[in-house]
Amino acid sequence: MSSPTPPHLLSKSRFVAGTQCRKLLWWKVHEPDARELEPDVVLQDRFDQGRHVGEVARDQFPDGVLIEAEGQSLDDRIAATRGALDDGARVVFEASFRHDDTFVAVDVLERLPGGYRLIEVKSSTSVKDEHVWDAAVQLHVLRGAGLSVHRVEIMHLSRAHRNPDEGALFERTDVTERVEPYASSVVPGEVTQQLAVLAGPCPDAPIGLSCHEPRACPFLERCWPDDPRHIRHLYNVGPKKTADYMREGIHRIDDLPADRKLPAAARRQLRATTAGRIVVEPGLGGALADFTGRIGFLDFETVNRAIPVWPGLGPWNAATAQFSYHERSPDGALTHAEYLAEGPHDPRPELAERLVEATADADRIATYSGYEKRCIRELAAAIPRLAIALTALEAKLFDLLPVVRNHVYHPEFRGSFSIKYVLSPLVPDLSYNDLVIVDGLTASVEIARLLFVAHKIPEAERDRIRTDLLAYCERDTEAMVRLHESLCTLAAADGRGDAG
Ligand code: SF4
Repeated sequence: MSSPTPPHLLSKSRFVAGTQCRKLLWWKVHEPDARELEPDVVLQDRFDQGRHVGEVARDQFPDGVLIEAEGQSLDDRIAATRGALDDGARVVFEASFRHDDTFVAVDVLERLPGGYRLIEVKSSTSVKDEHVWDAAVQLHVLRGAGLSVHRVEIMHLSRAHRNPDEGALFERTDVTERVEPYASSVVPGEVTQQLAVLAGPCPDAPIGLSCHEPRACPFLERCWPDDPRHIRHLYNVGPKKTADYMREGIHRIDDLPADRKLPAAARRQLRATTAGRIVVEPGLGGALADFTGRIGFLDFETVNRAIPVWPGLGPWNAATAQFSYHERSPDGALTHAEYLAEGPHDPRPELAERLVEATADADRIATYSGYEKRCIRELAAAIPRLAIALTALEAKLFDLLPVVRNHVYHPEFRGSFSIKYVLSPLVPDLSYNDLVIVDGLTASVEIARLLFVAHKIPEAERDRIRTDLLAYCERDTEAMVRLHESLCTLAAADGRGDAG
């Protein structure tokens, strides 16, 4: 006989959310259709890759029996699991149990002599603290449902694996000793508290580090003040330092004691925000002095797959799949070259050839961050026949980001030197607002869709995605061209004594 369904049932993901924040749990359950909970393309890709890893992991257990979820009620799944175990199945995938108003489906349940092994599959390349909670609530439910579980493992991707067949794709880490104390002493009380929270009104929860760890909460905009002078907008202050400041009672940039030791860029930020205008350091002209002649501007986009598909890559390794390159000759004439991979084959050799060809005449090549340098080194390692040319290209690189960070601050930077924040204040007539793709993570997912699931996308949509990707990458290098012009103007004004 099936047990009555209580008003709210916990699950693995709900329980883990509840350990992060009670309000997050409450909103997830009571507002499941909240706009914030709709996965964007990046999060959806993360889910899809996680699902794919789970399916590939099953290949390691050829005799496993899968408990189907689609179209089945929770009670059906629980009954099917019981049936499979009673029939002597050695391994069950998605083995489903319920206890303490908590439902769990175990990724892999393996029969051992006298008991079972619980295996949780993760698409990460290491065991994380949140995995321990995840495994602990499963252990609690399985034992409550009458199973004798002797061992708990996290099966995750291996950092040592390289496509196609160097090292095993998966590693299994025994976490029994880490999970046992949580499962026996902490989880029962935690489950009771979380169910009580769900039965009541939306709880209060303080903002702090828990809003970012173990995962960035989707409700940040609801809970955090929209204040450009909040301490989280101070340069070089991430979630941990923000939480430290808030514990000290420093919530706004204005609350900082005058004698607080800060990085030079943060000091410049304070000067600029207090004065309400741009600050330019006298050394800007000198920092740009070496960047002359025929100059290029280069930007890459990359794809990262949990299970690597091209030779030499490990799990989640980034592979360059697109570039945009502008080049300005000394007379000011601008040319543009670009490349975007097509089809599932490894695009890196062709991309690297086109890149070497496009950049051959440049004296210096600007990037914005050190990312392109890393990508060029990885290309050189992956394509030995082009290693010398790519090393020569690397020697021409010139990173504009530290030039901005060390010499310029505008109050609208909001503590960030990302090109998206820097561009509008310094080049007001250019932005990303007219584009469909406006960030690198989305670009990465869209490239992967074009490369690996193009057959599932209507042709018109494929064309649109290609156009959007080319426009986004081109805008990045156009932004660099214009940013460089703006910096030169600021340096010249500083030389005349006009700058702030
Ligand atoms: S933003 Fe922070 S306080 Fe608000 S729901 Fe998320 S974790 Fe909780």
